[in-house]
Amino acid sequence: MDQEKKLYIVRCGEVALKGMNKPYFERVLIERVRSALKCYDGAEAKWIDGLMFVRVPADVPEDEVIGKCVRVFGVASVSPAVEAPKDINEIGRVAAEFMQKVIEQDGVRTFKVKGKRADKSFAVESPEIGRQVGGMVLKACKTLSVDVHRPDCVLTVDVRREGAYIFRDKIRGFGGLPLGTNGKGLILMSGGIDSPVAAFMMAKRGMSIEAVHFHSYPYTSQRAQRKVEELVKVLAGYMGTVKMHVINLLPIQEEIVKKCPEDETTLLVRRFMMRIAEQIAVKNGCMMLITGEDLGQVASQTAEALVVTDKVVQMPVMRPLIAMDKVDIMDKAREIGTYDISIQPYEDCCTVFLPKHPVTKPKPERIEKSESALDVETLVKNAVDSEEIVEIRP
Ligand code: ATP
Ligand code: MG
Repeated sequence: MDQEKKLYIVRCGEVALKGMNKPYFERVLIERVRSALKCYDGAEAKWIDGLMFVRVPADVPEDEVIGKCVRVFGVASVSPAVEAPKDINEIGRVAAEFMQKVIEQDGVRTFKVKGKRADKSFAVESPEIGRQVGGMVLKACKTLSVDVHRPDCVLTVDVRREGAYIFRDKIRGFGGLPLGTNGKGLILMSGGIDSPVAAFMMAKRGMSIEAVHFHSYPYTSQRAQRKVEELVKVLAGYMGTVKMHVINLLPIQEEIVKKCPEDETTLLVRRFMMRIAEQIAVKNGCMMLITGEDLGQVASQTAEALVVTDKVVQMPVMRPLIAMDKVDIMDKAREIGTYDISIQPYEDCCTVFLPKHPVTKPKPERIEKSESALDVETLVKNAVDSEEIVEIRP
């Protein structure tokens, strides 16, 4: 016997606007949805006339399925739905049954029905679908009344070529484009609030992501690294398994502290981070670096400092948060579920050997002069060679 399944209608956002490339984007998006649901035996997804129909075994909680679908980039919204035969009386019967459940679950008292008729061969026109189905639901559900202006619940009846579908809520997804349709980038991932948001924003535009994390063990603890792994795990809920490169920066930091001016420490360290990240990116097919920097937030993120940091790499450096205010970044972090982990108080390699008065308006020539006391190439090579790789699963 066929396994009983629940239906979910998944709508795509920008993918629908993609013109000639639409089939490609649709193909990637459906693969992403299938992969997000592959933990449920028997789950299936298919496109029919611009909507994705997802069916998942009925014993899987609705919230779980919705949670997984809305985390797939490219998904605009999801609705749990029921299907009815294309007959107005049957539609009314199924809609009433559906509404009865909604009343039991949410105590809904008022409603209206919105009829839609994509299949013009269906004899009843849209407004009339609304009226007739509304009447049948009212008759069956004695506690309900109609409110066309501010109903507790809008029931949509969508009559399409292949069947009639009834649903209420649209649960919003994050939108964006399917992961993997826009190259691959390497996020410099700290344990802070910003870098996870930066990674999320680039991934939302379709970019696959690998991560690099620098630590200064034993000055930074293993617990601090675990925090970063927890953050990446949240991101993996949106992106699938993430490969993270882990590098001990301490040998470089010690050299800098020994041989360079104290007020330039942070900047010099950041230049090394960029150089190392670029090499890892090249080795792993990443075409861009991504950081969580934004303008003016801290001493190492003044316009001058960003220029000096950028000088050491050829690769484009994406800073998706550059013009955002901190409060907005914090809101975004809450929305995507990284905030509570980020605010746990663990040390970062940037806070080890922090200068008392860091330079805020560095001059490239001065920084280069300070760096000439170091064997940059060997330090970078040793760091890259010592990388450890952690695969972080959702
Ligand atoms: P975040 O909240 O992302 O830590 P921040 O405001 O604390 O950012 P900084 O600590 O100056 O700012 O770091 C700026 C950026 O440098 C980070 O967003 C991140 O991309 C990168 N970065 C900082 N520390 C590390 C680290 N330990 N490993 C990898 N990248 C780092
Ligand atoms: Mg930080």
